[in-house]
Amino acid sequence: MGKTNYRRTHHVDTDIVTVGRTPEEQFGYVNPPVYRGSTVLYPDTAHFERRDARYPYGRYGSPTTDSLEAAMTLLEGGAGTVLASSGLAAIAIALQSQLKAGDHLLVTDSCYAPTRGFCNGVMTRFGVSVEYYDPRIGAGIADLIRPETAVIFLESPGSHTFEVQDIPAIVAIAKKHDIATIIDNTWATPLFFRPLDVGVDIAIHAATKYIGGHSDVMLGTVTANEKTWPALKATWHMVGECAGPDVVWLGQRGLRTLSARLKRQMAAGIEVAGWLETQPEVARVLHPALESHPDHALWKRDFKGATSLFSVVMNPGPKEAFAAFLDGLELFGIGASWGGYESLCLPFDPRAVRTATTWHADGPAVRFHIGLEDTGDIIEDLKAGLERWRKAGGGAG
Ligand SMILES: *Cc1c(COP(=O)(O)O)cnc(C)c1O
Repeated sequence: MGKTNYRRTHHVDTDIVTVGRTPEEQFGYVNPPVYRGSTVLYPDTAHFERRDARYPYGRYGSPTTDSLEAAMTLLEGGAGTVLASSGLAAIAIALQSQLKAGDHLLVTDSCYAPTRGFCNGVMTRFGVSVEYYDPRIGAGIADLIRPETAVIFLESPGSHTFEVQDIPAIVAIAKKHDIATIIDNTWATPLFFRPLDVGVDIAIHAATKYIGGHSDVMLGTVTANEKTWPALKATWHMVGECAGPDVVWLGQRGLRTLSARLKRQMAAGIEVAGWLETQPEVARVLHPALESHPDHALWKRDFKGATSLFSVVMNPGPKEAFAAFLDGLELFGIGASWGGYESLCLPFDPRAVRTATTWHADGPAVRFHIGLEDTGDIIEDLKAGLERWRKAGGGAG
């Protein structure tokens, strides 16, 4: 797991191309092959009894999984990486690796909603007490710490609402009390934020999103530091989580072009978000790279870039106007997930899930993912959508 013959000596754009490839072991072929397999054969009983085979059984990995694990370990700066069959499964393993009955778990109120589902529906059943906190709590998290607090779970910026957390402040409190920190780093990718560098213990990714990059895989990664790696590795081994070889291969292929895609998508996201902000139909744009964002300074301090996922709060307007706006968009599919090459939109209402904070907005809200289409075309599409919104009675300024 996480083996590599490549050491980080170059710019990350070089690392992402080079790491986790072993052409010399694959007859010179540039990419690792897809090893499909369950049974791995042993040459004799003596080898089997030694139990030291590099690949003992299909569930425990192959050169295909080694490739992506090694890449993520290097990119996140960790001690090792395990792969999971989805981003949510990655979150579940990370939490299971650090928690036991009787523990207290602090989770940001801005977390991906199914993370909350796992915590409330599974962790509580196994005797973990789950408490949600305001993503903007910063050092104030100290007031929520109990003797039995074992994990603080972070996600920054938050799902849908894009609150940026003061990660170093939270990590400082966690370290003081020997509490493990786990972050969902899916939005930033390791290119724009490296949580382990600021002391977070475990970083998870829904590689389903930007890393896969083509809306064709479900895949998760969990990268741990030296301290948390043994428990993570052991838990992964015991729970039977296993990402399929074809999907893992697509993940490593997507990763090779991540930097190029993100440069384009970062610029496109900022351009489209900035344009939306000037439109009278729009009340607020929630994009951390815009100066108007309440946490812009924190984002600027901690992140190297912004991906192309952000939200928009509209002025007040009837349901029909919101539907007219979104349903008529030509270039934006309506759908969950993101990080692919294509643009998406998704209406959301945080009031349905939040428990520690209150969502204030007079109008409806929509999350946009900006893909690799031409931004001029995207803006034309949105312009026509805002016209439909106005014509159907939606507010404008
Ligand atoms: C999509 C998503 C996940 C879950 O990933 P899946 O692969 O869909 O299970 C986790 N965290 C965030 C922030 C996500 O957007």
